[in-house]
Amino acid sequence: MDNLRTAFNTNEKIMNHPSVFMHPSPQEMGVNECAFSTTDQLLFSDQTRTLCEHNSCGQFDATWACPPAVGSYESCVLKCLSYKNVLIFSTVADLKGRYNARGWQDARIRHEAVTARVAQQFRTHRPNSLVLSTEGCLVCDACTYPHEPCRYPDKLFPSVEGYGIIVMDIVIKTGLRYTHGPETLTYFSFILF
Ligand code: SF4
Repeated sequence: MDNLRTAFNTNEKIMNHPSVFMHPSPQEMGVNECAFSTTDQLLFSDQTRTLCEHNSCGQFDATWACPPAVGSYESCVLKCLSYKNVLIFSTVADLKGRYNARGWQDARIRHEAVTARVAQQFRTHRPNSLVLSTEGCLVCDACTYPHEPCRYPDKLFPSVEGYGIIVMDIVIKTGLRYTHGPETLTYFSFILF
């Protein structure tokens, strides 16, 4: 991909950010666009929790990755703000001819795989980073929630929206693209460090 953008528009605030992009590069890991910012630039709203409770994605109260399992809205905001910096990155799927539920699911599976790759690379530098991704969790065939603890807490990436973050706001602030045209799907993940 030749359209990778690294928008270091708040770079001067980032102290000692990890050399995560040296090798492998974001492109090699499947990232389309990425940007660094600071957590004080994130906009939060408890309205995202209201949307979660409407359960249009079917993940509310069904996985350790989503509300209510991730904790209260207030605790999620405080956790995010306990980190200074945030990396936002996207993957883009061209679904022409496959703009349907199966195409969306395949795109999400690919995005989660890219997120796992970037997270693994990032955590070699910052083991305590908080990784947030799309709704739900795809790691196990059946989630242990709520009867047993999560089987793979290191592979569990809670939902960005479940943490109360308004994705579009920070995407626009950092100069990333929220969409990439008709019949495409853009997914975002966040790493707070
Ligand atoms: S890793 Fe498995 S047990 Fe943990 S949240 Fe994901 S699906 Fe559930």
